[in-house]
Amino acid sequence: MEKVLEVSDLHVSFSTYGGEVKAVRGVTFDLHKGETLAIVGESGCGKSVTSQSIMRLIPDPPGKIIRGSVLFKGMDLTKVNEPQMRKIRGADISMIFQDPMTALNPTLTIGDQIIEGIRQHEQMTKEQAKKVALEMMELVGIPSPTIRFKQYPHQFSGGMRQRMVIAMALVCRPEVLIADEPTTALDVTIQAQILDLFRDIQKETGVSIILITHDLGVVAQVADRIAVMYAGKIIEEGTRREIFYHPQHPYTKGLLNSVPRLDIEGVDLVPIGGSPPDLFSPPAGCPFAPRCDDAMEVCDRVYPFKTTLSKDHHVDCWLQDERAKLASITTTFNA
Ligand code: SF4
Ligand code: MG
Repeated sequence: MEKVLEVSDLHVSFSTYGGEVKAVRGVTFDLHKGETLAIVGESGCGKSVTSQSIMRLIPDPPGKIIRGSVLFKGMDLTKVNEPQMRKIRGADISMIFQDPMTALNPTLTIGDQIIEGIRQHEQMTKEQAKKVALEMMELVGIPSPTIRFKQYPHQFSGGMRQRMVIAMALVCRPEVLIADEPTTALDVTIQAQILDLFRDIQKETGVSIILITHDLGVVAQVADRIAVMYAGKIIEEGTRREIFYHPQHPYTKGLLNSVPRLDIEGVDLVPIGGSPPDLFSPPAGCPFAPRCDDAMEVCDRVYPFKTTLSKDHHVDCWLQDERAKLASITTTFNA
């Protein structure tokens, strides 16, 4: 499948009074045309920082892309200048956030905002832009778009506001849509509707989606592939099927055990004990070791290699790696 985005060895840090927080520590993934890749993990795992770095929205300082690359249409987005990046944002890569209110201007009508968004990127008359805007409102399922067009954000429900934000994000037909916890602020019924909408617009437009979430329920509904993040790294990656039915990393298994499953009834939910490591001084070995029931001696010392389990399924865990035995007896071993 055609790759639209290639993130390689991305490292992002924040300098604080307490020292340098290594929020993203070598993240690598591809996004293919027309797919939804979910990036999943607990709060603070680096998933939002990863997506903001792709968009170059990390405030620098205190944030900094230390190394790595983000390839998009032959450009490395970590290197392009700000005016160029402004052209890319919204037109080629769009982003939506958890709270639709932050993306909308309360003092402008919905129509004026969406037209403004279009005309930032496209040479169009107001009338042409209005036509595009109304079509997009229709596509995202806003009833009576011509009436809604003249209304203000406060006249919309939470779900309708999020639909509007999605319309604005898609209006310039971006190739990539990054959605950071897009349904977290919505109630469950509306959540399901918005997730259905993602699927519909993907079918309609072929947009590739990166979905950032802590909620595996959301992932189960829409993701083609899933990347699980922990302590600034992707620790397991696979198709939805592989992650849900054949998870290999103890952390992924823990995450799955800690969420309600529609397909398995009557199973007690077990939260993962302990908390993620401090990212001021991340451990040399596996960052999950202190919380892992299967940890071996080598785990504390050496970060595991990536083990390939299938074309799409990769895991960073010594349990999957024959070399763990060798590593245990070789003290100078370095991953
Ligand atoms: Fe557990 Fe070791 Fe695997 Fe880390 S590498 S998840 S500590 S078994
Ligand atoms: Mg976040």
